[in-house]
Amino acid sequence: MIHAGVVGIAGRMGSLIARGIVDADDMVLAGALEAGGHPLLGKDAGMVLGAGPLDTAITSRIEDAFCTCDIIVDFTLPVVTMETFRYAAAEGKKLIIGTTGFSDDELTEIRGCAGKIAVVMAPNMSIGVNVMFKAVSILAGLLGEDYDVEIVETHHRLKKDAPSGTALGLARAIAEAKGVDLADHARYERHGIIGARPDGEIGIQTLRAGDIVGDHTVLFAGNNERIEITHRAHSRQNFARGALRAVRWVSDREPGLYSMIDVLGL
Ligand code: NAD
Repeated sequence: MIHAGVVGIAGRMGSLIARGIVDADDMVLAGALEAGGHPLLGKDAGMVLGAGPLDTAITSRIEDAFCTCDIIVDFTLPVVTMETFRYAAAEGKKLIIGTTGFSDDELTEIRGCAGKIAVVMAPNMSIGVNVMFKAVSILAGLLGEDYDVEIVETHHRLKKDAPSGTALGLARAIAEAKGVDLADHARYERHGIIGARPDGEIGIQTLRAGDIVGDHTVLFAGNNERIEITHRAHSRQNFARGALRAVRWVSDREPGLYSMIDVLGL
């Protein structure tokens, strides 16, 4: 039996993942963390999830929440996830990170300590998006410099970070396939008299509207033709399913930093 815990159990993603853990035959929800002052603190996680009593109280103390957990799942905020990461590294717990919006320093810290524990980190846990990562890197390599690349992402109005971690992941995959540094080629906004499009630019544009779960389009445009690849998430369930798959996969992994590409064997 896998003993898993969830950070941000009241969140949009945290609650779905926690319910998935409760419903799984091979997992136990052994820990539930929420922010200090949250109205659900002290309540039974199973009751909050509508799954009946579990005897797992929601707490804001990380050491109480996860002392009996082997694996922790965190879809919250970078500042919160860094605390979870440091706790997991100190206590030898495995970790699934779905949070997006990390700074370069935070990413370096996660990469540097991953030798101690097994971590799966992915800005998008859906199977379709991870296949899309693979597809766009093949296309970028095949199409080469004659095709301009633009990425457009659309999310709900409450999303805190921009561009999405998925759009950045797509941009990184394309830059790697082209053999260039994304920092030197990314273009995040255009406004005013911008002049002709520089060669090799990778455009990354953000839209925020309504309750859209998450759309990503990569456009490769040449002369007289273009290819567009679009992924649309219809609900958050596909991210939660991917997270549960990552939990099972990481349960017998050696320390290291892994992605959904590893989990899915792509
Ligand atoms: P949300 O705001 O609904 O949930 C975040 C939860 O974290 C809230 O319940 C909040 O109270 C809790 N929280 C805040 N501070 C905390 C603390 N100190 N300790 C414990 N809990 C704390 O957000 P969401 O829509 O669920 O998204 C969360 C993150 O997951 C975002 O970064 C988002 O981009 C990312 N995300 C990733 C994927 C993926 O597939 N990797 C999919 C969807 C969303």
